[in-house]
Amino acid sequence: MLQKIIDFFRSLFGFSKSKEPSKPPKKWDEIPDTKPEEEELVVNEEEEPQDGSEIQPDTIVVTYEPDPILEIPEVEEPPVVTTTPPVIEEPPVVITTPDPPTTTTPTENEPVSASHTPRFLWCLDNGHGKKTAGKRSPKLENGEQFREYEFNRDIVNRMITALDELGVKTYNVVPEVDIDNFLEGRVQRANGKNSDLPKLYVSVHANAAPARPGKWAEDSIHGIETWCYHGSKKGRKIASVFQRHLIKKTGWKDRKVKSQSTKQFYVIRKTSMTAVLTENGFYNNKKQCKELLKEEVRQKIADAHVAAIMEIEKKGII
Ligand SMILES: [Zn+2]
Repeated sequence: MLQKIIDFFRSLFGFSKSKEPSKPPKKWDEIPDTKPEEEELVVNEEEEPQDGSEIQPDTIVVTYEPDPILEIPEVEEPPVVTTTPPVIEEPPVVITTPDPPTTTTPTENEPVSASHTPRFLWCLDNGHGKKTAGKRSPKLENGEQFREYEFNRDIVNRMITALDELGVKTYNVVPEVDIDNFLEGRVQRANGKNSDLPKLYVSVHANAAPARPGKWAEDSIHGIETWCYHGSKKGRKIASVFQRHLIKKTGWKDRKVKSQSTKQFYVIRKTSMTAVLTENGFYNNKKQCKELLKEEVRQKIADAHVAAIMEIEKKGII
């Protein structure tokens, strides 16, 4: 059954199973991205949405079935040989702890783990700033309110903490909080970032459904979707990995991988590297909003992003 579904989507997007030669699949790293050069695109910038909540109802959105799961075989750890070191009297060490730096500039995290050789530099984007208009839920009965800039930052920060320990190289594109959308700046920083490793871009968001100002949207709209550049095979592959892990970890409705040929998201279109944008639940769905405010749900969402990144780090893009 699964194969039938895969074949159906293959045929939809021009991948005929029978025409495929039996050569081994190309690694994602080897697949050239199909993102066109900027000058080939004619787009009215004023109409460009920042995220899923700004998509107009008349927009044609293409939905993709996520790629089938390719499990990574677990590597057996070599046995740890422990030897008891001789006890040497050490002189007392005086440790002076410097004040933690106040981060106002983008930061690149050098991984602390030696067990993993980083394959990519992950440019992690938290979407909006504190000064971004809207992007918040109506108030709940207890006075709590969801603010997207805070959620996006929380998820990205949790990701960076975990990825740092796992030995993955990350770049926090916008650590500042007290800013507006800063869309151009996000893209400029990521594009201008020097890196020996190939760069990938992940923008973390939460979604909003159409609703009257200050009111909750209808209950039926909920779930997670991941966006990629329209026509980018590599983008679709990567988005598919994120979408699969997000659905697996949260159990939320799978709104699939999506792209649209016009009015593409600014950060997806303008970045010079493969970019994806995750929309992690609807904050103006009252039930989902309450979930998005929970510590354990946020950790699950961050963990799912980390699992997706680790899958791509380990396998490359195949
Ligand atoms: Zn957003």
